[in-house]
Amino acid sequence: MKLINNLIIQIIPFLPKFFVKLVASPYIAGITDEEMLKNVQKLNNKGFKVAIDILGEHVETEKEADEITQRYISIYDEISKRNLSANISIKLTHIGQDLGLDIVKNNLTQLVQAAKKNNNFLRLDMENVPYTSETIQLYKEMFEHYDQIGIVIQAYLHRSFDDIKSLSDEKFNVRICKGIYVEDPKLVLKDYNDIRENYIRLVKEALNKGSYVGIATHDEFLIDNIYSWIIKNNISKDQYEFQVLHGVPMQKKLEMLMNDGNTVRVYLPYGDNWYDYSVRRLKENPKMAGYIIKNLFLSIFRIK
Ligand SMILES: Cc1cc2nc3c(=O)[nH]c(=O)nc-3n(C[C@H](O)[C@H](O)[C@H](O)COP(=O)(O)OP(=O)(O)OC[C@H]3O[C@@H](n4cnc5c(N)ncnc54)[C@H](O)[C@@H]3O)c2cc1C
Repeated sequence: MKLINNLIIQIIPFLPKFFVKLVASPYIAGITDEEMLKNVQKLNNKGFKVAIDILGEHVETEKEADEITQRYISIYDEISKRNLSANISIKLTHIGQDLGLDIVKNNLTQLVQAAKKNNNFLRLDMENVPYTSETIQLYKEMFEHYDQIGIVIQAYLHRSFDDIKSLSDEKFNVRICKGIYVEDPKLVLKDYNDIRENYIRLVKEALNKGSYVGIATHDEFLIDNIYSWIIKNNISKDQYEFQVLHGVPMQKKLEMLMNDGNTVRVYLPYGDNWYDYSVRRLKENPKMAGYIIKNLFLSIFRIK
């Protein structure tokens, strides 16, 4: 499988862009703000909440970082104006984390103020390990000004249980995911089942401490396992939500969760950076190529 995934990645640069777009399109909610906002409305009509993300990361100039920040601020205003059920999820390197602490802090402060003005929520995605501690630190600083802000904890990192233990309380809002980056093997759990086990441990720790948890996974074993525990332990439905990436075909499971009265949020990436972003992600994590091809076949033949 690894061989096939790597082969797909080698081929991608030689494929016509329109073909890559065709394959990537189920995962991306358009190029323009207007396209994205229409998709948010469609998802809301189907009962989903949304987390909006402008594709991109690691900007190289202050101007780009500022443009992205202002674009996010205008999206908060549009969400309010159109009465959409959506929040925003950002990558700190997209608003200038590589350019210096002052720059990212200034942009983040503006975003937090916009979230506050619109009575909305801001999530800081978690990027790779060089950014982990600083992301947590910036989250803590911003939390002092506005508590509708949250972060992400990755189940594959050895450090995550300590992070969750020290951060969790009734005001903590955390998305828990497995983690997508290729990291130094010394820092991460390698075994698939160990990551699953740690994921469950993290979710339980946060929920037991009264935190709000975004259970972000497409792994149905994890969803079923955690949901049974939630029911058994009478965890209130307003203490958690399920989160999935736009386009991953798991309609039946999501309908089942929503019919049971649970919140399901779709993470909705969009923007003109879709090509570079998709290719970079595929190169970083060849497993993604296999997922995309598998899901393409599943949706063509409607197996799932
Ligand atoms: C809402 C959300 C937000 C996220 N935010 C972050 C973040 O801030 N930082 C971070 O490091 N990671 C983030 N991730 C990615 C996450 O860490 C995992 O890499 C990703 O979700 C795959 O893990 P899984 O739990 O779905 O389990 P897996 O075992 O990897 O996948 C289970 C099944 O789901 C399907 N699947 C999974 N991912 C995809 C995909 N991308 N495309 C198509 N099919 C797929 C496949 O069929 C696969 O067999 C996020 C994921 C979600 C759902």
